[in-house]
Amino acid sequence: MLRVRNLRVYHGIIEAVHGINIEVPLGKCVALLGPNGAGKTSTISAITGVVKSEGSVSFEDRNLSSLSVEDRIKAGISVSPEGRRVFANLTVEENLVLGGALKPKCRSDRIAEWFKTFPILGERRAQPAGTLSGGEQQMLAIARALMNEPKILLLDEPSLGLAPKIASQIFEMIKNLKQENITILLVEQNATQALKLSDYAYFLNNGHILAEGKPEELGGREDLMAELTGIT
Ligand code: ATP
Repeated sequence: MLRVRNLRVYHGIIEAVHGINIEVPLGKCVALLGPNGAGKTSTISAITGVVKSEGSVSFEDRNLSSLSVEDRIKAGISVSPEGRRVFANLTVEENLVLGGALKPKCRSDRIAEWFKTFPILGERRAQPAGTLSGGEQQMLAIARALMNEPKILLLDEPSLGLAPKIASQIFEMIKNLKQENITILLVEQNATQALKLSDYAYFLNNGHILAEGKPEELGGREDLMAELTGIT
């Protein structure tokens, strides 16, 4: 469904990703694992069209390469960015309203649903998003990314900087999204948790895919896991 072919990503003259291939089938959760600086965010940014890239990105057999960022969002791609990037001065509810700008119809119903799913967001609906805890901001960032009812959700390091218990709650949230058949590309450094809920995984390092396979295959590769923990 999402197909990335021979993708090269550039930051100015620096080539950060060197010709990778990735596929995310409909309804599946695919993990893109790798240590700091591997090229994970660069890959996500190329899919959403915010950085310069070569190669092809197609979605539902449509080549996105010539589409603007806005048109890619309209095509059904949504991202929950690394570092959450909630609008800190806007309220929780205003963040969700903005997230659903492309699908204003029934937007308040969807917000009400999120407040039911995450009562803590409902309790804090009128509070500036910047006053939420890291875990709450992550929940908000994911809910906001889903407000346009995307066909695929790109999740960039949702557990980053969270205490293990809070990170587990976020992974539980992702598991629930998966059960609702939402297609997900999950970028993570926490391989153990990400592999538990993925159908397939890629391991990226220095802009190259070093390995790919079913979670049980990759999880058993001590060499890869050592790269992630920095213990070699
Ligand atoms: P992290 O988890 O640290 O974000 P990552 O796997 O997402 O790591 P990227 O952020 O994609 O990695 O970075 C890949 C490479 O591209 C790194 O060498 C990084 O220094 C470089 N890079 C990323 N963004 C820029 C930029 N705006 N300008 C120059 N180089 C960049």
